[in-house]
Amino acid sequence: MSKTVSLTINGQSVNVPENMTILAAARSIGVNVPTLCHLDLHELKAVNQVGVCRVCVVEVAGARSLVPACCTPVSEGMAVKTNTPRAVLARRTTVELLLSDHPFECLTCEKNRSCDLQKLAADLGIQEDLRFTGQKSSHEKDHSSRAIKRNPDKCVLCRRCETMCNQVQTCGVISAVNRGFNTTIAPAFEKPIQESTCTFCGQCVAVCPTGALTEVNNVRNVWQAINDPDKYVMVQTAPAVRVALGEEFGMEPGTIVTGKMVALLRRLGFDKVFDTDFAADLTIIEEASEMIHRIQHGGTLPILTSCCPAWVKFFEHQFPDLLDIPSTCKSPHEMFGAIAKTFYAEKFGIDPQKIVVVSVMPCLAKKYESGREELSNNGLQNVDYVITTRELAMMAREAGLNLVNLPDEDFDHPLGESTGAGVIFGTTGGVIEAALRTAYEWLTNQPLEKVEFTQLRGFGQIREAKVNIGGKDFTIGVAHGLGNARRMLEAIRSGEKTYDAIEIMACPGGCVGGGGQPYHHGNVNLIRKRAEAIYREDQGKPKRKSHENKDVMKLYEEFLGEKYGEKAHELLHTHYTIRNRY
Ligand code: SF4
Ligand code: SF4
Ligand code: SF4
Repeated sequence: MSKTVSLTINGQSVNVPENMTILAAARSIGVNVPTLCHLDLHELKAVNQVGVCRVCVVEVAGARSLVPACCTPVSEGMAVKTNTPRAVLARRTTVELLLSDHPFECLTCEKNRSCDLQKLAADLGIQEDLRFTGQKSSHEKDHSSRAIKRNPDKCVLCRRCETMCNQVQTCGVISAVNRGFNTTIAPAFEKPIQESTCTFCGQCVAVCPTGALTEVNNVRNVWQAINDPDKYVMVQTAPAVRVALGEEFGMEPGTIVTGKMVALLRRLGFDKVFDTDFAADLTIIEEASEMIHRIQHGGTLPILTSCCPAWVKFFEHQFPDLLDIPSTCKSPHEMFGAIAKTFYAEKFGIDPQKIVVVSVMPCLAKKYESGREELSNNGLQNVDYVITTRELAMMAREAGLNLVNLPDEDFDHPLGESTGAGVIFGTTGGVIEAALRTAYEWLTNQPLEKVEFTQLRGFGQIREAKVNIGGKDFTIGVAHGLGNARRMLEAIRSGEKTYDAIEIMACPGGCVGGGGQPYHHGNVNLIRKRAEAIYREDQGKPKRKSHENKDVMKLYEEFLGEKYGEKAHELLHTHYTIRNRY
């Protein structure tokens, strides 16, 4: 048992483990000490505890100077005061100094209303008559990618992004360069992010407290398409969006808003409102077929899921020698786009050139992915625009629509039908569970009575389970977060571990914790609530296996032909490219 120490915080006695920080001890008794650079990613086994911003300073009896609560350990008999005039003045001064070198663009900043610096200034009552003015830093902005923008002028050098990118994702893309006023957080040699090994997972954006790192916003392009009478605009929504969108409208995390979201999309003017879950079911038919093909024909195992574009880019950069193990299936929204511009166009007599496919995703990497040349057919990109959950909420606000007041409506058909298997794509472990529900029945010709593979669920960083199918044990692996993915692939490469099938999602918790969701700021409990909602949505579905999706099966009969066959390969599969290692 770890030793405890006794101390007082604002006169209140408290007993806490001896290695705790003052900040954690204060929070354990409900005392709020403001922070800026601090980011507790405890469940992801990382913490940004650099103590650089000095916003959390507190007074400790007997200490000559104020101490940062985030990185000062408690000690026996310590007497801490968090809100003395000296501590409050020091905090205010620090924030005023930060503001003296920060652009005052709050009204038009992407992070307006979600910015920690803005909130801190408001909480500390900093409103006018700033004491410090002077020259402001001016750095080059980076608009090189389709997914992420960098504006170093808004950076407060808190290093939260660095911790996320380097410790959690192990991508090592961004860190501090230069010195003094010239310091910025940038890729090596200040290369544009597009030329770096960035996976566009967006986790740095999810934790950046200011507008220094933001998504590339596609809302204007989508409005333009909607308002163009010559365009037929089809929208699809990923499973994780429906359990997080409500947060943007004040609902509890994990509130399921599927029907309201459909009503919202219709009122925004989209011609058809479809479901990426339909394409997730289609992905399972192809992926399970590919898995069975590999098992029965001595193909390479393990098979790796390929529906996460950040994960795909990660292995292209980091594991070029293992490019033959990922499934060749396109991600579900790309499959949807390919089907929309071929099957759907043909069936309903629409010129594919006039079709605009918009994907509403929890994801920034999908913005990048939609520009990959190989994700096109007949000279048309499968997906035209990707907007995030946040951008959809932005469109709603712009149109004066409040999700809360909208009725429940159903998706359009035939590309709106889905099963519970398609829904669980939104959380870690869901894709492989969905694939197993189908592979089991196809391999055994027996009905699968219990569809939940609970041994694959949860938030364990690397999970492993043996699943018995027809008398044979299959070893299944699941990892979320790219650092865990790296550990798993290194174990495969060295021969230390063998698996038959593996699911990897780049974001913590899978897409529910995606970089395009309402900002999670490292709050794993919030991500967990969204995941629980995903499983509730699955449970409520009348059909829970992808091969029970009648519209998907009809698609094969009417258009695609054989599963994993020639036409399916042409439209639904892709290939990978070796990319720069550094
Ligand atoms: S998007 Fe992901 S990989 Fe790229 S810099 Fe941010 S955290 Fe790192
Ligand atoms: S880019 Fe954002 S998260 Fe990174 S150091 Fe700057 S302010 Fe902090
Ligand atoms: S886990 Fe989901 S949200 Fe995150 S990068 Fe992958 S596909 Fe996008």
